[in-house]
Formats: sequence, C-alpha cells, structure tokens
Amino acid sequence: MFNNYKQQFDEELQEIKDSGMWKDVGVLEGKQGTEITITIDDSNNRTLLNFCANNYLGLAGSEELAKAAKEGLDKYGFGEASVRFIVGTSTIHKDLEKEICKFFGTEDAITYTSCFDANTGLFETILKEGDAVFSDELNHASIIDGIRLCKAERFRYKNSDMNDLEGQLKAAGDRRRKLIATDGVFSMDGITAKLKDICNLAEKYGAMVMVDDSHASGVLGKTGRGSVEGLLSRIDILTSTFGKALGGAGGGFTAGRREIIQVLHQRSRTALFSNSLTPGIANAALYVLQNYDAKFIDLKKQLEENTAYFRAGMEKLGFTLGGDGKHPITPVMLMEEKKASEMAAELFKQGIYVRGFTYPVVPKGKARIRVQISAAHTKEQMDQALKAFKRVKQL
Ligand SMILES: *Cc1c(COP(=O)(O)O)cnc(C)c1O
Repeated sequence: MFNNYKQQFDEELQEIKDSGMWKDVGVLEGKQGTEITITIDDSNNRTLLNFCANNYLGLAGSEELAKAAKEGLDKYGFGEASVRFIVGTSTIHKDLEKEICKFFGTEDAITYTSCFDANTGLFETILKEGDAVFSDELNHASIIDGIRLCKAERFRYKNSDMNDLEGQLKAAGDRRRKLIATDGVFSMDGITAKLKDICNLAEKYGAMVMVDDSHASGVLGKTGRGSVEGLLSRIDILTSTFGKALGGAGGGFTAGRREIIQVLHQRSRTALFSNSLTPGIANAALYVLQNYDAKFIDLKKQLEENTAYFRAGMEKLGFTLGGDGKHPITPVMLMEEKKASEMAAELFKQGIYVRGFTYPVVPKGKARIRVQISAAHTKEQMDQALKAFKRVKQL
C-alpha cells in the first residue's frame, strides 16, 4: 500500500530541498585522511584537503590501527553472534573495559557499539518518573534522544549558563534522583563546558553529573583525558566514543561509579539487546588506550600546535573565529547564511573540504564554516587552506 504514501514522502523530500537542508553526501574513495578523493553526485570525483573530519589524531586511516584491528579479528573472530548477556561478551570486551578504567581513572566501564548507543541506553536505565534531568540546550542529539526515552522531568538550560542551571536546580526541588547532563565540548562552537562550575552546583543541589566527552577524549587535557581531566572524581558518569580522536571507526562507552555501571550491565537496553562491539574495533580501541601515553600524546601536542598555527593564520586574514582556541574545532563565523554556504562551496572548488553550518543547525544569523584541524595536517596543507580562505574572502 505504499502507493497511498508515496506522494507524502515525495513532498517531504521536496520540503527538505526547499528549506536548504538537503545533504549532499560526498563518497570517500579509499581511506580517511587529510587528503581525500571524494565523489559527489556520482559524476565528478575530486581530490581535496580535508578539514571536516573528527580525525583529530589522524588515526582513522593509519596502518597501525588497521593492524591492531586485524589482530583482534584473528584472535577473537569476526563477532560473537549474540548479545552480551547471552554469549556475546569475550575477553577483549572485559580487557577494554578494564583499560578504559585505567586510562580515565574510573571505577568501572561498559562498552557499546557507539556513543550514541551509550547515551540512549543511559538515561532511561537510571532515571524514572519524578526524577529530574538538567540538559544543556546544545547537547548532542544522542543525549537529547536518550533523555526523551526516559520518564524523568527534563529541565533544559541555556548553553553553559550557570545562573540558568542554578535556577532550574532550585525549581526542581527535592527529587529521588537529579542528574546534570552536558557535552564536554560543544561541537558547533568548539567550546568546553564549564565543568568545574557544574560540579560545584551539582554538589550544592545534590545532583549527579554526566559528561559526554566524545569531542575531547584524547584531545583536551594535559594528558589527553579530555575536558574532564582533573575532575573525574567529581563526575559520576562519563560517556565517549572511539569514533573520533581515539580511533575513528566506532565504538563507545560509559564509565564512572561502579554501582551505576553495574546497573547499566543489568538493564541498559542498548547493551542488553544489541550485539557487542566487534572484536576488531575493540582490539584497536584497546591498542589506542594502551599506547596513548607513550605514543599518541605526541600527536595531541602536534594537534595543539596545528590548531594554534591555523587560528593565527586565520586571524591574520581578518576572520572572526569562534571557539576557545584550545579545541581543534575552529568555527569561522560568517553570520549570514548565504555567505557561509557560498563560501564553503567556493572553498570546495579551490580544493578545500569544509562544511558550512546554517540555521537551524546553528542559531539564525550565526552561520559559520566549521574547520576541524588534525594532527596529521602538514604545515603546507594548512597554508594551502589559508590561501584558499584568503582568496574566497576577496570574492
Ligand atoms: C560524535 C558524538 C557522539 C556519537 O558518537 P558515535 O560513537 O559515533 O555514536 C555522541 N556524542 C557526542 C557529543 C558526539 O560528538
């Protein structure tokens, strides 16, 4: 009976196009990296310098990680063909969970196939009707969806606005459980959450704290532990991904207080009713964590140098940059929607792959191009990008 609905779907697709929200998906040929060949519209393929991946340490296309993944496949096989609580947990998952605890200094951890799953499997497991959850308005879609699944009352506070958060904590009053949930780094702005202040408020009002550090694990903090570095004893729940700096393929986890993680093992639906992280990815994730301090910390330093170099170059060209300067997410603030999309298209023609973000992904009048720096970018590549930005600015 699809015929009854075809027209509706056609109209919906047209609406997406008319509103300028249509996503042309570029298809990567070969590996992720700073130089990529990409096909758009099946017709023309282009080799571009890539400035829009979350490949912060440049590990996504690395031989080293592919090798670790292959070793995982050889040792543990392709997969478990079962959910974890039946016969789908293997030693690699236990080893990885132990290593996550060792790396972040948490009491316990549970892995998921993605951080999206970690977040959607979190809130409804630990919160119920009458509880209260306080969520930053700029939180990632997976936190928003996770909160939607739970019956706790939702209090949305303005981005990083501690007065607003405090007001909402007061308004919520006494509850069985209270939880503040925030991204560690807000991905459209490249700014870090005010975690110290959040922890202070949590203590004052008796709330737990959950931080999703997907954009910051392996990137921020003196030792690369993320935006949560130095605060982990005050943060009850940490979620993150192996799909960004700490690898680039996929996989996620929730770490933190032992009792909470135990409850997740017992009841979290995205863990219980879905196959575990594939052994190849799990072994590669384990490899990254085990070798981070000895090897990958240098990449983090390179990333910081690259970020500083690119930002200085852009500022010299007279661009207004968002972000706090520390995170490799570098929003180039253009404000006007048209300007951002035209400039991104022009940069594409000049061989630089970046994405323009316009309303409603970002607020009206705050359109931007988001540049993401990687440790793998060479100075020459960044210079090429700066030259291209200089050219398109004059157009
Ligand atoms: C990227 C991201 C996710 C999703 O991670 P996956 O492991 O790819 O599902 C979740 N939360 C935040 C804050 C992210 O930036």
